[in-house]
Amino acid sequence: MDALAELDQRISDCRACPRLVDWREEVARVKRAAFADWTYWGRPVPGFGPPDARLLIIGLAPAAHGGNRTGRMFTGDRSGDVLYQALYDVGLASQPTAVSVDDGLELHGVRITSPVHCAPPENKPTPGERDACRPWLVEELRLLRPTLRAVVVLGAFGWQAALPAFAAAGWTVPRPRPVFGHGTRVRLDGADGVDGLDGIDLFGCFHVSQRNTFTGKLTPEMLRDVLRTAGEAAGLTVRGEAV
Ligand code: SF4
Repeated sequence: MDALAELDQRISDCRACPRLVDWREEVARVKRAAFADWTYWGRPVPGFGPPDARLLIIGLAPAAHGGNRTGRMFTGDRSGDVLYQALYDVGLASQPTAVSVDDGLELHGVRITSPVHCAPPENKPTPGERDACRPWLVEELRLLRPTLRAVVVLGAFGWQAALPAFAAAGWTVPRPRPVFGHGTRVRLDGADGVDGLDGIDLFGCFHVSQRNTFTGKLTPEMLRDVLRTAGEAAGLTVRGEAV
């Protein structure tokens, strides 16, 4: 088992946040009527994608009946439908849909993770839960460091949660801390003293939540544009023109 797979396994066993453990397991017991036949995952959802990813996408937390049901990031909910369709459109995913862990989906040079690995009530983790989960993100970033060249952060929560993790994993985060915005692009240099650590390009993107996509705050075109630009910055081959 490679180091990242081992990390994913350890994350899946975490029970550090009592409120989230209770919630994820209760949701898995009660279920939504439409998914009554499913055996819910009901555990922390680890990152998804290859261990040598050049581009990392950071969301917020798994959805109660999405990732918490299927056991894979953004899989089985409408946010994921939007994200994977866009990744497929720009050539970074093998298929446009994500319905279960055995649906055959593969990401090309991309990994997806979140700063909080358990589904929170109302999609709102507390600051304490965010901080409790941060060491997992730091460890994931350290393991991805040799190949990682760009990161897309979906939404302000992920942005604020991730900046300290980048610093802890060895990158230099500018002071004052860069502010989240859709289309924001920030260069994080490798910190002095960390051998072989290349800088990364960090991109802000509105979250693919239903609230944003239904209202048109985030359109498919806006999402594709950020993914293309970030994919090119990461040295990946993307379809279409980056803006
Ligand atoms: S949110 Fe993170 S730290 Fe808290 S129980 Fe889940 S995996 Fe563990």
